[in-house]
Amino acid sequence: MKIITTIPQLRKTIATMRRKGRSIGFVPTMGALHNGHLSLIRRSKKQSDITVLSIFVNPAQFGPKEDYKKYPRTWPADIQKARRDGVEIVFAPTAHAMYPRGFATWVSMDKSITDTVLCGRSRPGHFHGVATVVAKLLNLVQPDIMYLGQKDAQQCVVLHRMVNDLNIPTRVVVCPTVREKDGLAMSSRNQYLSSAERQEAIALYQALCLGRDLIRNRERHASRICSAMRQHVQKNSRGVIDYLNAVDPATLQSLRKIRGAVLLAGAVRFGNTRLIDNIIVPTYNG
Ligand code: AMP
Repeated sequence: MKIITTIPQLRKTIATMRRKGRSIGFVPTMGALHNGHLSLIRRSKKQSDITVLSIFVNPAQFGPKEDYKKYPRTWPADIQKARRDGVEIVFAPTAHAMYPRGFATWVSMDKSITDTVLCGRSRPGHFHGVATVVAKLLNLVQPDIMYLGQKDAQQCVVLHRMVNDLNIPTRVVVCPTVREKDGLAMSSRNQYLSSAERQEAIALYQALCLGRDLIRNRERHASRICSAMRQHVQKNSRGVIDYLNAVDPATLQSLRKIRGAVLLAGAVRFGNTRLIDNIIVPTYNG
């Protein structure tokens, strides 16, 4: 496994792989690797000749009051996991290499998918940072396929859109959310939770499942589904709800009536830790 920290070194290695006709799968991450990340790596290993894993805690996607400084950094363990899972190249640039002095070019997207819905409302500018760093990484790695996790549903929609809109020649594959035994979505931020918060955090996934069950039982009013999900979190935890919403999976706009597939998505703060989760519910009947 090659560990690369500079852009010239990465470009050289990628050029060599391309000359040899190798297909490249790319898994962008911020490190603190868990089984969710590893599922993306495994998928890439199955479909591509070479798997490139990036580990980069991207300052541009954190708000001024967010956890950039204390975001978990577990480099030795990450490298061990990447090696064990057969990653060929780890790309871990410095913030300075990605954003040198004078950096002035950003990927700016329509706010209706980045800033006015779901996570974007409470994290304005977050997806601007995500889109910019991923555009840069795609230019550097030039992958055939990029692997993303469904856990970050809005990120998947935003990046799909960006790749299409900018005609980036990379296919986006979205992999299912990997969960703990009790259903909690795996996340690097779960390690911030106290044991009491950890127990309560399951209320978020339970609320989404409750919403799904209501839809399966033919409830079609989004407002009723959302209030049932909110009540569940409020009754079963001290979590502070950021949002619990039923939206169109393609546009992320709120739904009034359930018709076709629905994305049930939520963000809840347990103590100081903001967790997100979502499920897609197909509906086949009116
Ligand atoms: P992050 O390191 O949090 O930026 O995540 C890197 C990638 O891993 C993103 O595409 C995430 O959606 C994906 N990911 C994070 N958690 C999970 C999970 N529990 N299941 C599947 N994919 C995940």
